[in-house]
Amino acid sequence: MKRSEDKQITSDLTGIGIREATEILWNLSPAALVEEAILNGEGVLASNGALMCDTGQFTGRSPKDRFIVKDAKTADIVWWGDINIPFDSAKFDQLQQKMADYLKGRRLYVRDACAGDHPDYRLNLRIVNTQAWQNLFCHNMFLRPNQEELLNHTPAFTILCVPEFKADPAVDGTRQPNFAIINLIKGMILIGGTGYAGEIKKGIFSVMNYILPQEKNTLSMHCSANVGQQGDTAIFFGLSGTGKTTLSADPDRGLIGDDEHGWTSDSVFNFEGGCYAKVIDLAREKEPEIWDAIRFGAIVENTRFEAGTRKIDFTNKEVTENTRTAYPIFHIPNAVEPSRAGTPENIFFLTADAFGVIPPISRLNKSQAMYHFISGYTAKVAGTEMGVTEPVTTFSACFGAAFLPLHPTKYAEMFGYKMEQEQVSVWLVNTGWTGGPYGVGTRMKLPYTRAMITAALNGRLEEATYTRHPIFGVDMPDSCPGVPSEILNPRNTWQKKEEYDAKAFHLASKFIDNFRKYAAFASVEILAGAPLVEEPV
Ligand code: ATP
Ligand code: MN
Repeated sequence: MKRSEDKQITSDLTGIGIREATEILWNLSPAALVEEAILNGEGVLASNGALMCDTGQFTGRSPKDRFIVKDAKTADIVWWGDINIPFDSAKFDQLQQKMADYLKGRRLYVRDACAGDHPDYRLNLRIVNTQAWQNLFCHNMFLRPNQEELLNHTPAFTILCVPEFKADPAVDGTRQPNFAIINLIKGMILIGGTGYAGEIKKGIFSVMNYILPQEKNTLSMHCSANVGQQGDTAIFFGLSGTGKTTLSADPDRGLIGDDEHGWTSDSVFNFEGGCYAKVIDLAREKEPEIWDAIRFGAIVENTRFEAGTRKIDFTNKEVTENTRTAYPIFHIPNAVEPSRAGTPENIFFLTADAFGVIPPISRLNKSQAMYHFISGYTAKVAGTEMGVTEPVTTFSACFGAAFLPLHPTKYAEMFGYKMEQEQVSVWLVNTGWTGGPYGVGTRMKLPYTRAMITAALNGRLEEATYTRHPIFGVDMPDSCPGVPSEILNPRNTWQKKEEYDAKAFHLASKFIDNFRKYAAFASVEILAGAPLVEEPV
């Protein structure tokens, strides 16, 4: 058998302007794509069987180069600004033609896939790639239609992803040579000048975040989700690096998905068919499910080998700290099929609070749940070159503003309605610092966070007594199985209590500053969820 002999050509791409590509390789198997990637020099095999690739200049998404075409459909609906940057529709057509022309004489990898593992919300996709590894990424990350479904596959969205193609900002209307542009009327996404495949995944996520609330009256969410043996669903909201992927991979619970979900009247369903996990400092003892998922068929991005071996050195930050793996969800042994379960009984808001102020776990009332959902707080650790630096607060509405084409209050309203309708416990979990801020304290131990989440899920935390946080007003359990009681109230873990109080007031004031922009939306009920004290005393 020769290279790519299992290719299937099912139709042509002239509909999107692509003519005279030398070869169009349609829906290749993972094995064939791995082989293509290696022969093309796009990647190498690691000792565990994963395909190791570099994404090039971009090792993360470029939010400033993500546009939405402003046209009759979107003009009055999209929340325009720094997040949703408008793009001219004629320029889009011109750029699409330019990209299509650029593909003349090239070898293309095409994949038919879907997003939304629910019959009422399924979005058919077609992805055209110039790089085989990116086509494998799409195989891993999107839902995989079966042979029968492929026969009737009409794409609602087509993604043209050409990392080698660079735009000319002056002519093409982009900011830089790299771009990701969503056209909701045409059902197309153009990506160029960047090899970061996360743009493909988050591009379709943004589309789902438009279609579901706007056209299907359904909430879409940036969260992970899993389900217990009793059928109890839990969802985990959180910004990048707060632990959605890590904490949803739980050996005692079925994985629904790790990043993008919809919440209907009777279900939570995954948009994706795979997981995209951070692998910096990955260790089998701490994260066995993710470790074992990295095998043949998986991709690892921007990692390096231990010298003289093919063994991945997960501690290496030479290329970036944002090293990742992309694997199909069935690499996780207890993933549920289909990626769908009942409505949630527990909701976790994950925050990596680098100030060490937020309690490791606390229970929120409805007002607090709304307030924290709209706030979407986490903290980033700023420039770590020398010594200690002050963490920076990040507030991102609905824990995912970067991917929300509509005004955040649209999602918040839907979330609030669910809170009214359903019996759900909401927990705020600090996966960040304890014992002091970044530089003084340490990151919360993962086994402790896991134990706290388990106790919330199996009802053990219902048995605990609670102490109200004097500033944030949230209820902190006094005890939790598997966790030393003294860490449950963060103030106890700080050497100087007055420093804790000052820092807590400081953080509370940041919440209040951030919330001012939602003043018009903020009802008395929601404001009741705000931190209790505004100014340091
Ligand atoms: P993204 O939206 O970018 O995918 P994410 O929310 O899925 O981000 P994870 O991939 O789960 O984030 O990353 C969390 C990282 O933090 C992992 O590398 C994990 O090992 C590490 N970590 C350290 N301590 C904890 C903790 N207590 N809880 C959760 N994660 C922790
Ligand atoms: Mn994740």
